[in-house]
Amino acid sequence: RVDISNTLKHLHIDNINQAYSTGNTWGGGKDNVVKEIISPVDGQKIASVKIATVDEYDLVVEQAATAFKSWRTVPAPKRGEIVRQIGEALRENKEHLGKLVSYEMGKSLQEGLGEVQEMIDIADFAVGLSRQLYGLTMHSERPDHRMYEQYHPLGIIGIISAFNFPVAVWSWNAMLVWVCGDVCIWKPSEKTPLTAIACQHIAQQVFKKNDVAEGVSCLIIGDRNIGELMAADKRLPLISATGSTRMGKAVGAAVGARLGRSLLELGGNNAIMITEDADLDMALIGAVFGAVGTAGQRCTSTRRLIIHENVYEAFKAKLVKAYGQIKIGNPLDENNHMGPLIDKDAVSLYLNAIKQCKAEGGRFVVEGGKLEGEAYDSGCYVKPAVAEVENNFKIVQHETFAPLLYLIKYKTLDEAIAFQNDVPQGLSSAIMTNNLREAETFLSGAGSDCGIANVNIGTSGAEIGGAFGGEKETGGGRESGSDAWKVYMRRQTNTINYSTKLPLAQGIKFDL
Ligand code: NAD
Repeated sequence: RVDISNTLKHLHIDNINQAYSTGNTWGGGKDNVVKEIISPVDGQKIASVKIATVDEYDLVVEQAATAFKSWRTVPAPKRGEIVRQIGEALRENKEHLGKLVSYEMGKSLQEGLGEVQEMIDIADFAVGLSRQLYGLTMHSERPDHRMYEQYHPLGIIGIISAFNFPVAVWSWNAMLVWVCGDVCIWKPSEKTPLTAIACQHIAQQVFKKNDVAEGVSCLIIGDRNIGELMAADKRLPLISATGSTRMGKAVGAAVGARLGRSLLELGGNNAIMITEDADLDMALIGAVFGAVGTAGQRCTSTRRLIIHENVYEAFKAKLVKAYGQIKIGNPLDENNHMGPLIDKDAVSLYLNAIKQCKAEGGRFVVEGGKLEGEAYDSGCYVKPAVAEVENNFKIVQHETFAPLLYLIKYKTLDEAIAFQNDVPQGLSSAIMTNNLREAETFLSGAGSDCGIANVNIGTSGAEIGGAFGGEKETGGGRESGSDAWKVYMRRQTNTINYSTKLPLAQGIKFDL
């Protein structure tokens, strides 16, 4: 049994946590449904949470609406200064928060710490951004007129997040939300609410120290029912939702029905193309980390390897050997490469996918299966598996959120690009090659159709500086770096006439 009691105490994770928070105020009545949070690492209960009621949800939205009125008037660089302090607070809490991410979600400690580092990085990015919320100026077609555009705060941003990046996804949104002058309501995954409670405490201490209005950072604990309320709520002009394509279709439809804005970050089915000209040792590291990192539970996890026929057998042999060396177990023990899946349901989905793959004709070169024994008695540990398949198998077209890697053989680059693109999802993609023509063809408009396309890097492990997201069933949203901030603001075009006449655009004559 893992003992992280010090960490829980440090991060204010009590035995039973509340159902919501608007900042200093935490709430949840005695009638709320209580949910136990069990660690997939050792099957032990970490703490319980309360599921928020509809009335509590309304109270949170009202508080956020009040906070927005004052927060939007704080100058953006001043808001950035507060985000800078939140980044500092995250630095101070990195070890503890990283540990809790690892224990609650099951990813390796290194990846848990990496996730907190991403939060720090996006906070730093947002601080700079707070002085760079630029609009353009335009030359008017009319004399003595000036045109420009400006970006104003949008309002209450709803953030719905998935279990696999329990804290980073919130920060990608929240840090930008705050510098943009918005307020947010975060509904974390019902599978990982404790890390969210920890984050809310960390951010709130900073807001409190700066006398910021209650409601700028709100947290609501609940399952899809609360998510559905948020998606349908016209008081929330933007819903940023991260999770499965199934969830995204529901949220997109509900937000679309009220003509709200949605930023959807959904499932991936990411491939690495390994060409004849690839450095196979580099390709091996990219492929194995991509497939088994976070136990295959990253939206950018490598699910398919599309390998040239001339290097196929050699690469397969390397891969099988590398898989033989993967150590699976307690993710807080740094000797292990791979921890558990999030829960037993995820194990069933993984085992079913293996069955379906075999039924469709897949040949396993590394056999999967559930791990048994004392070290694995949470029931959530599995073996990473590798199968030779055809790209058009139904199971290959589907995102199985587990360490299940498919090998596909190709002859020509055109065929490889067609395989790469021929899935419903369009998140991350990569080519391993030392051939400039191959690399540039892959990156061209006729190449990868994904939101992320890498050369000589695997599919997972994006940096915060770029806009993150994907096409097709991945949802089309972009968050984090580049100009992703624009979705959190409303753009206003202003035309100012400083002449003594009122000429109309397009030369239209209208005399009285
Ligand atoms: P999930 O869809 O089951 O849940 C995600 C969140 O959506 C949870 O908070 C859940 O309560 C909520 N939700 C579910 N149904 C809803 C509905 N109908 N209306 C409103 N809210 C609803 O996903 P998960 O199992 O937590 O996460 C894994 C999935 O997330 C994978 O498909 C993965 O690829 C994807 N993901 C994508 C990205 C990305 O940036 N593209 C990042 C992380 C995870």
